[in-house]
Amino acid sequence: MEVEGVGIGSDGASNGPAAGGGGGSALIFLGTGCSSALPNARCLIEPSDPPCRVCSQSLLLPPDANPNYRCNTSLLIDYCPDNTKHSYILIDVGKTFREQVLRWFTLYKIPHVDSIILTHEHADAVLGLDDIRAIQPYSSTNDIDPTPIYLSQHAMDSIAEKFPYLVRKKLKEGQEVRRVAQLDWKIIEENCEKSFVASGLQFFPLPVMHGEDYVCLGFLFGEKYKVAYISDVSRFIPSTEQVISKKGVWQLDLLILDTLYKVINLLATPDGIFCIEGYQ
Ligand SMILES: [Zn+2]
Ligand SMILES: [Zn+2]
Repeated sequence: MEVEGVGIGSDGASNGPAAGGGGGSALIFLGTGCSSALPNARCLIEPSDPPCRVCSQSLLLPPDANPNYRCNTSLLIDYCPDNTKHSYILIDVGKTFREQVLRWFTLYKIPHVDSIILTHEHADAVLGLDDIRAIQPYSSTNDIDPTPIYLSQHAMDSIAEKFPYLVRKKLKEGQEVRRVAQLDWKIIEENCEKSFVASGLQFFPLPVMHGEDYVCLGFLFGEKYKVAYISDVSRFIPSTEQVISKKGVWQLDLLILDTLYKVINLLATPDGIFCIEGYQ
């Protein structure tokens, strides 16, 4: 992956040249906000005195120049290894997905999504899944190629309950065809050594603790440069810490971290640490 000039601090930051259809790969931050996104609606409908200094500024600037308006955490990898064909790999599809498409896909001229990867199954990572149909080709009979979507078995089980109509293969007797997102569910393992390939790019899962009772996945990817993208982490487990540490198997060029809590011990991480969130 080419990684250059990654903007820090606001949704829509991109490493530039590839965005818009040129050559080279790019990372586009579709969202860098918390689970409820920014602004916090309550800060605007019932302002405190004095008003919240973040949310009170959230509607003053256009989105691409506004660090105080942020959608759910999500990354789009514009993968273009040969400088000609672009593949678009989306990590997480949260509550604000539609807004992110309208805001950033239009700005960076992203025509479609080739594959999807989920970090976990919380609302801020998956509740935009219904809107995937809006970026897929139209077919009233759902006769289109499904978009591959990679997720853990735990996430799969939860999503099958949240979105049974996106998972069910056959209609029930007497049920009419209704247009829904077409997804090809692919189970990945919560194991640093069990890589998978999405749209031609290899990914290594990086399991981390998201609270002490829950495992969430980060991902390591990149050919020319190694990038680790880890969202919603509260604590590293030893195997993942070993992988991304300076002493580990991979020498990272860029570590992208998303955490609401300042509890992470970054003893042996690379110089290129890019922390999203922490907006207060
Ligand atoms: Zn606020
Ligand atoms: Zn979560």
